[in-house]
Amino acid sequence: MRYVDEVLQQVITQNPAQPEFHQAVQEVLETLAPVIEKNEELYRREALLERLTVPERIIMFRVPWVDDQGQVHVNNGYRVQFNGAIGPYKGGIRLHPSVNLGVMKFLSFEQTFKNSLTGLPIGGGKGGSDFDPKGKSDREIMAFCQSFINELYKYIGADTDVPAGDIGVGAREVGYFFGQYRRLKGVFEGVFTGKGLSYGGSLARPQATGYGLLYITQEMLKANGQDIAGKTVAVSGAGNVATYAIEKAWQLGAKPVTCSDSTGWIYDPDGIDVATLIEVKQVKRARLTEYAKARPNSQYHEGKGVWTVKCDIALPCATQNELLLEDAKALVANGCMAVCEGANMPTSLDATKYLQQQGVYFVPGKAANAGGVAVSALEMSQNSERLSWSFEQVDSQLQQIMVNIFHN
Ligand code: NDP
Repeated sequence: MRYVDEVLQQVITQNPAQPEFHQAVQEVLETLAPVIEKNEELYRREALLERLTVPERIIMFRVPWVDDQGQVHVNNGYRVQFNGAIGPYKGGIRLHPSVNLGVMKFLSFEQTFKNSLTGLPIGGGKGGSDFDPKGKSDREIMAFCQSFINELYKYIGADTDVPAGDIGVGAREVGYFFGQYRRLKGVFEGVFTGKGLSYGGSLARPQATGYGLLYITQEMLKANGQDIAGKTVAVSGAGNVATYAIEKAWQLGAKPVTCSDSTGWIYDPDGIDVATLIEVKQVKRARLTEYAKARPNSQYHEGKGVWTVKCDIALPCATQNELLLEDAKALVANGCMAVCEGANMPTSLDATKYLQQQGVYFVPGKAANAGGVAVSALEMSQNSERLSWSFEQVDSQLQQIMVNIFHN
């Protein structure tokens, strides 16, 4: 049996009921196979693939917290420190009911490769909880975040493990995490990224993933003799990544026409209005039905459907496995020429294969959404030298990093 198949089988047997982790490992091992096969005996003796696919450390813990009615709740907390070979573990915290150990392992495994691809000295990690932030008061969110850190603070630090935001975690949550860490440890250090500007955050960090996605998309189109200006773009998601992807798409002369959240999606023939989107999702924390009320020309649809719209470029920016084979077929039938992943593993393996067979340009998330972690690493540098760089300085480094990632 080929070494890559042997290790994939082991991963499946040793990690039962973790389909997302199996999927992420399969994707990487299949891609590496041509390289591995050239030196199979050496790599097998060195257990190279086992060392790549078994995490260095997993921390699992109880997160008890009290709601506004006095009811106690208990959630599961996780931090997977997957690989610290080239620097402190780095990767976000996700708060979503779908979080489980397999999801944490897939995300931290992917993070290892993504972080390395940025060229910056950061290892791969990821954490989170099955806590659902939807409908919770600020005080409840704070209670949860502080309890989460009451356990996690022992295992993180500016030189060991530096978490950031992900689904369900933005500046508010990072603020609660950081504040509790500082209280417990008594040190002010760059232990989180995505912090508020007044206490060590970096300019351009909120924009970084979405902007970076558009920079790499632009570079990829350019390398293929195409221009992003004038292209119609379908975007899924309505959170951090989607919002700033939409903003940068406009700035580069493209027209983003869709966005979505966990209940439905919007088609706006005039193009998605960024200010309205921010007001609805970031300020009011409301559903996209509110967007449709504010923009009478737009259409709101319940459920899934973003990939049925006619577009040149598709940017999945919500969550894993949100673009399946039937979606890929609809995109190709509608003339879509490029799929670039803003989310982590949004495209299923069969959909990815189909897109590639059909000649659709495909940029995987490990490259396409690396702008967020790249600017997080720049935030770490600024914290270490106790300086703050200008927006333009950070943004121009981000652009350069995304161009380098494409060519690497
Ligand atoms: P946010 O929480 O800001 O936004 C996520 C968006 O996706 C929301 O609109 C949410 O809907 C929707 N969504 C989440 N889960 C589901 C689901 N199961 N089904 C349908 N819709 C869903 O997260 P981010 O924008 O930060 O993250 C989006 C993706 O990008 C994730 O895969 C993340 O890992 C990846 N990523 C994020 C980076 C970052 O810097 N933030 C960096 C690199 C990758 P609703 O509004 O209803 O909750």
